[in-house]
Amino acid sequence: MKDSDLTERRLSGELVYDGRFIRVWRDAVRLPDGSATVREYVRHPGAVAIVALFDDGRVLMERQHRFPHGRDFIELPAGKLEANEPHFETAKRELLEETGYVAAEWTRLALIHPTIAYSDEGIELWLARGLEKREAKLDTGEFLEVLALPFEETVAMIRDGRITDGKTVAGLLWVKAFLGGASPAAPR
Ligand SMILES: [Mg+2]
Repeated sequence: MKDSDLTERRLSGELVYDGRFIRVWRDAVRLPDGSATVREYVRHPGAVAIVALFDDGRVLMERQHRFPHGRDFIELPAGKLEANEPHFETAKRELLEETGYVAAEWTRLALIHPTIAYSDEGIELWLARGLEKREAKLDTGEFLEVLALPFEETVAMIRDGRITDGKTVAGLLWVKAFLGGASPAAPR
């Protein structure tokens, strides 16, 4: 079976919203059959999410109010890349800023694309171990509560729907599936 060309080609486009961190575009595109349509999408700078494990098997989580949903979510520490910032630097910076922890061991786990239909957002998932407490320093306008939950409880929370955030589901289940969870068997 040979792959057919599914590429959509940009004919023209306009920036319809230029915001503090997202840009919304509306492009005219040519579809594979030659017809034309419009694609509306969000350009995003990229982000990281961190699965930070304590030696006792707990994982650092956050409770944050997410305005578009009008409610709080339980999620992994995460944050957007600053201009020209490597993902690893973002991961270290966000973990410290949001939770007050530094980590001795870092492992890049995966790149995920949480919103492929309407955004180019990519989130790198990182594993952090060897945690040590320092001082958190939240950005202005950032409010969150830091929790340390048993890793297996977070997996149960995915199963029963208490955790639904995409990057969080992906990060925790990645560690569960490929590293065997937060057990001592996980590579150090
Ligand atoms: Mg954040």
